[in-house]
Amino acid sequence: MSKLLLDGKRVAEVIQNGLKDRISQLKSKNVTPCLATILVGDDPSSETYVKMKGNACERNGIKSLKIHLPTETTTEELLEVIQTLNHDDYVHGILLQHPVPAHIDERKAFDYISTKKDVDGVTSAGYGQTALGFGQYPSCTPAAIMKVLEFYNIAAEGKLAVVIGRSPILGKPVSALLLNENATVITCHSKTVNLPELVRQADIVVAAVGKPKFVQGTWIKEGAVVIDAGYNKGNIGDVDYEACLGQASAITPVPGGIGPVTISMLLKHTVDAAEAAVTE
Ligand code: NAP
Repeated sequence: MSKLLLDGKRVAEVIQNGLKDRISQLKSKNVTPCLATILVGDDPSSETYVKMKGNACERNGIKSLKIHLPTETTTEELLEVIQTLNHDDYVHGILLQHPVPAHIDERKAFDYISTKKDVDGVTSAGYGQTALGFGQYPSCTPAAIMKVLEFYNIAAEGKLAVVIGRSPILGKPVSALLLNENATVITCHSKTVNLPELVRQADIVVAAVGKPKFVQGTWIKEGAVVIDAGYNKGNIGDVDYEACLGQASAITPVPGGIGPVTISMLLKHTVDAAEAAVTE
């Protein structure tokens, strides 16, 4: 059976090339798309993610406004920062890096982001719109997963998709997006009974668990499409890649799979938001 390696770097490049003209058009109107990132605390992985997002913005002609707040920041202080950015006409997208320190009400902070600037689909309204099928800015990783399937002409319609994970930024919205594309979706979580049996039935498997090499080769039906959204310490995905490769017809690597496409979707949403602000 021939294998299709789903090359996220290639998909990311195509998305970013598609933004060049749009960014030039905006600049000709004296508008530079701007993404504000808010990082609270000193979590090294979060610092790396925010840095990668900022660097990708700058490489693509998008302004990156980085706000780094101390760990002791209160929910109220964070809300004030978000409110300032909501009212700043030079800022088109706002990304609050998850997770924030435990004493902060993360849901309240996410929901404070203006829906017009919610380029990572974290607000309750953004999630609801995604689920109902008219969301402007779905969360970037779920959007990236759908983009990779589209790029490689892998139709979700009629397929059985098993999503492992139900987080508000990943498992739940990607389940909704797959359902909107007429897949039959099973969303699994830590209380799911007999997970390997369910995964064995899947035509499309999405791993979004946060556990290195969690998905085993013996769980994969021959010919299934395996999407690894995981990103764990040491650049390790949630799928045992080598073991699953033998069974899968198509598979994303880690690194170089969903990660780079996620960043590109964030850039795209920021440009979308800047264009929407111009035409308002
Ligand atoms: P999360 O919030 O920790 O959610 C993990 C999910 O996995 C939860 O729904 C949990 O179930 C479920 N789970 C945990 N143990 C399980 C088990 N034994 N069996 C079945 N389900 C289990 O994580 P997340 O933020 O969604 O991230 C998931 C992964 O994606 C991580 O590796 C993260 O680094 C990665 N990620 C990558 C990108 C990217 O750009 N590529 C972006 C975001 C996240 P419960 O709900 O029952 O607890």
